Amino acid sequence: LLDTIQGLNDRSEIHGILVQLPLPDGLDSHEAINAIDPMKDVDGCTTTNLGELVSGNERLVPCTPRGTIAMIESTGTTFEGKTAVVIGRSILVGKPVALLMLNRHAVVTLCHSRTPDLGAEGREADILVVAAGRRGLVTGDMIKPGAVVIDVGINVVDGKLKGDVDFESAKEVAGHITPVPGGVGPMTRAMLLENTLIAAKLQADSASES
Ligand code: NAD
Repeated sequence: LLDTIQGLNDRSEIHGILVQLPLPDGLDSHEAINAIDPMKDVDGCTTTNLGELVSGNERLVPCTPRGTIAMIESTGTTFEGKTAVVIGRSILVGKPVALLMLNRHAVVTLCHSRTPDLGAEGREADILVVAAGRRGLVTGDMIKPGAVVIDVGINVVDGKLKGDVDFESAKEVAGHITPVPGGVGPMTRAMLLENTLIAAKLQADSASES
């Protein structure tokens, strides 16, 4: 796997590389991801690009979090001073989405499996992003009226895709809400294409400098 990634790093006609997770047992995902040239890291998951994000420099940002921000912005919602709650603290989704909202001056709370009262946190949220991978974790009574609710979760129930938010009860309370399927998933793919373009430009700029 590392040889393959190195080979792709070396080929100038390849602009983007993504390691599809989870990897089979015995392969180290941290090592594999960090073998990617940071300028070709189109899912923004290398330590270098995540470090840039922590520093407030959004160069190549993970696709799902980027799509989440784009969808919130598309509603006309601004972040500054808003209460934003993220449920889920993974490196791929929860943490980067929290950082992106923090960079936009939201007041961010990051919840996870040890959060004592998710409902109390959710009811405070002007913006609620749910990325736990738990079907029906968030119900309408956990949502502030008028909130923007982004459901990142994907759960397969009887062969059908379902989110982490109970759409039927949540849609009665939320101001905006994304469906599953047809919400975050397509945006993630669109952001992957956009990141590939950004990566190609970074590589072109770097080649012209050297
Ligand atoms: P993960 O398993 O790495 O992380 C899940 C997080 O949720 C953890 O931080 C955990 O603490 C938290 N959590 C779990 N149970 C909880 C509970 N009961 N209460 C509060 N927090 C809880 O998952 P991930 O990679 O972040 O993905 C999350 C979900 O989003 C999954 O369903 C995944 O399939 C989906 N996903 C969708 C897309 C997309 O493009 N639509 C992309 C990435 C991930």
